[in-house]
Amino acid sequence: MIRVRLLIFNAALGPLDYRVPDGMVVEPGSVVVAPLGPRQIIGIVWEPDRLLTSAVADARLRPLLAVLPVSPLRSELRRLIEWTAEYYCAPIAAVARMVLASGGALKGPATVTEYRLSGGAPERMTPQRERAIAALEGEQATMRELAGIAGVSENVLRGLAGQGVLEPVLVDCDRPYPRAQPSHSPPVLSHEQQAVADTLVAAVQQNRFRPFLIDGVTGSGKTETYFEAIATALAQQRQVLVLLPEIALTEAFLGRFAQRFGAPPVVWHSSLKSTERRRAWRAITAGEAQVVVGARSALFLPYRKLGLIVVDEAHEVSFKQDEGVRYNARDVAVMRARFERIPVVLASATPALESLHMADTGTYEKLVLPSRYGVAELPHIDLVNLTEEKPEPGRWLAPRLAREMVQRLERGEQSLLFLNRRGYAPLTLCRHCGFRFQCPNCSAWLVEHRLSQRLACHHCGHETRPPETCPECGEADCLVACGPGVERIADEVAEILPEARVALVTSDTLGSPDKAAEFIAMAEGGAIDVIVGTQLVTKGFHFPELTLVGVVDADLGLEGGDLRAAERTYQQVAQVAGRAGRGAKPGEVLIQTRHPEAPVIAALAAGDRDAFYAAETEARRHAGAPPFGRWAAIIVSSEDEAEAREAARSIGATRPVQPDLQVLGPAPAPMALLRGRYRYRLLINARRSAGLQDVIRGWLGELKFPQGVRVSVDIDPYSFV
Ligand code: ADP
Ligand code: ZN
Repeated sequence: MIRVRLLIFNAALGPLDYRVPDGMVVEPGSVVVAPLGPRQIIGIVWEPDRLLTSAVADARLRPLLAVLPVSPLRSELRRLIEWTAEYYCAPIAAVARMVLASGGALKGPATVTEYRLSGGAPERMTPQRERAIAALEGEQATMRELAGIAGVSENVLRGLAGQGVLEPVLVDCDRPYPRAQPSHSPPVLSHEQQAVADTLVAAVQQNRFRPFLIDGVTGSGKTETYFEAIATALAQQRQVLVLLPEIALTEAFLGRFAQRFGAPPVVWHSSLKSTERRRAWRAITAGEAQVVVGARSALFLPYRKLGLIVVDEAHEVSFKQDEGVRYNARDVAVMRARFERIPVVLASATPALESLHMADTGTYEKLVLPSRYGVAELPHIDLVNLTEEKPEPGRWLAPRLAREMVQRLERGEQSLLFLNRRGYAPLTLCRHCGFRFQCPNCSAWLVEHRLSQRLACHHCGHETRPPETCPECGEADCLVACGPGVERIADEVAEILPEARVALVTSDTLGSPDKAAEFIAMAEGGAIDVIVGTQLVTKGFHFPELTLVGVVDADLGLEGGDLRAAERTYQQVAQVAGRAGRGAKPGEVLIQTRHPEAPVIAALAAGDRDAFYAAETEARRHAGAPPFGRWAAIIVSSEDEAEAREAARSIGATRPVQPDLQVLGPAPAPMALLRGRYRYRLLINARRSAGLQDVIRGWLGELKFPQGVRVSVDIDPYSFV
């Protein structure tokens, strides 16, 4: 009898053993269907000695039901799954689930019927039909998707299909993607760029684990240089994964990629339609997807023959996942490259201190691009001390910044204002009784969104319409908006420059790839004079006519629950500054601050990156913070406040005592209430020698908690909320 051990998708149960029925062939990595009680579950065949469980007698084993028609997961990927689960103290099933990220793809090849306009007219026109026909021009999709696009019910569309106005098209779900050509349109590289590209190309040819950090100023052409490495991998018939931090960025990237390689890459992110998802997934396992560009979740897909991984804007916090499996895609990318024995490239103008440290200690090879490509120069940076140059009452932009914006408009150039706050105002209060609008589910103020006329919580999504009168004292016309968000800044710009065309760029306005593409086209085409945006505008955009960047409040990032606040502020401001003067015209950056003396602000003003990193490195060394020591957070939550407190207390009471590890807390989390759950936190600071994960596993593994309590571990945490 052949018995196998399965990793099953149920974190509570752990691995289970099964019998392989006669005639069925499986190997480690095979994806199979197995019975579990009356249900069927999906599992992955695993090496039994790597996945321990209590033995079950042969006679009691149930047989596997089927092998799914997908390639077995390769051992390199199985090792990555194990490593990720170990390192992040996460259930291995939860990690494996990220690999099998498309339920549809597991069912094998398939076709789907899509519909498109045939050009015919209906026998009888109704307003709904008219609307549908107008909206569906050039579209082809399933009934359900078309109904969404047209904003009518599927019944209306079925009526149109019945009359031949919509015609069916049978589509192969796995139809191949257009092929990228390595030598479609190569650039002429500068000497600096060529040197970097040559190193990367050689590494791809060598085909072994080599981690690189491209440390190149904004606009130096980092993308162009790693494109050469991609070309080499393509020529070798190997796959490439490029991780980007934002969908908004992906849009700009796709255009550039298609210009260079003659076809767009395969895209992977959370808002793909299920048909796109299954098509991408199958092409990835089949080795047909040549280059995959995606958000962090693309990292765990079952590539057949990876040749290169690139993490662009590698310093970005959005590579850190803060729920479910709390992993950092930047770090797991390096591990994946190690298991696959291929090169990995981290690219950034403002690398994380951890990455620079790895380069300085020789673990990563550092490749430097010290200057901008072509004639572009780095922008000139100046501080605006808000305690001296005060904005007019009720305004947030200092007179000097306003004057500079007027000049830009007169010269036909673009300005960009950065404020990392969505909405109109972060706090609304009653002038009469002092009542503040707070989220019922979270420890947070409700943010006013004037454009969509709502008060919203940015943590749980709770929304209400702003009332006419104060809900506390009943007074009318007494509610005041406190402080600015980007919408309020956009209003101020409209007062200063009534004729300017202003674009608001936040996740509220630029949430979809289409919207992002539209914005980029308008900004590039000169249809926008002033861009007002959140952290979204700090990333990757390249608008040659943009010559002025204003940072509305550089002090903002220094508040709040970020363990690396100074570094984050440095990165955000340096990145947004890097949007200025990328073309032939010089760029100017004005940073508004109330603390010009703060080391990070002073370093930004002086353009002295090295000084900032040196000071920050010393501070971290002193605090035993990463990369010198390690952090981990334990977050305890429950809908019942007493239950959460008690669970946190019992964790605190059993804390490990050892000289190289210190446990702080438990204490109420800064977000003491989040999505209706009360939260407590413990922070662990450990030396590198401490065996942090084993200590945590041993410690928490001993404890029992009530059903309603959730305990999650965050290794190398970023956020401290
Ligand atoms: P980074 O990613 O370092 O900020 P990019 O790769 O976006 O820089 O390059 C900045 C701009 O300069 C882009 O528009 C890019 O197309 C252009 N560029 C960079 N290098 C070259 C080159 N060798 N030939 C032509 N254009 C280049
Ligand atoms: Zn909330």
